[in-house]
Amino acid sequence: MRVVLSPDPVLREKCEPVELTEIPKLRSTARQMAKVMYKNRGCGLAAPQVGITKRIIVVDCTPEVEGEPLPQNPSFYINPVITRAWGGESESEEGCLSIPGISVVIKRHNNIVVEALDLDGQPFTVEAEGFHARALQHELDHLDGKTMFEHLDPIDRINAFKAYEQALAEGAKPGDVG
Ligand SMILES: [Zn+2]
Repeated sequence: MRVVLSPDPVLREKCEPVELTEIPKLRSTARQMAKVMYKNRGCGLAAPQVGITKRIIVVDCTPEVEGEPLPQNPSFYINPVITRAWGGESESEEGCLSIPGISVVIKRHNNIVVEALDLDGQPFTVEAEGFHARALQHELDHLDGKTMFEHLDPIDRINAFKAYEQALAEGAKPGDVG
């Protein structure tokens, strides 16, 4: 399992909901996704980023402490949906493991509630704010085939895409942020 890079068409696909009966066989897939995320030092990864068009994401926003091993507390979300958003919107720079070498300013909701199923098929609800809310919104976009580029207006998109091509030409790898 490896990270698929933009502009791979799989990143523009709308992912299929996961059926309850599929969850047991997708557990190891989800755990492998977490491994790929940590290996590339990401804080989130969506299934299409490893070529799987199913509605699964993994997120870990636990802050890194310098000199200590990376804390690994992955949260898995199956069929996640945002059921509430409030607290206004903020702009901030984001990176993406599938678009290495650049960062892009994107406007996101400050506070959201996400409902999803866990790896046992049990429903759960998470209230997230700030960076955590941003990471969840970024990963949820991937499930609808939306990358950072699709958030930008046409001119910014062209500029971001040029910067990305340049970064790739210079050897940018997943986890590199511009
Ligand atoms: Zn991404």
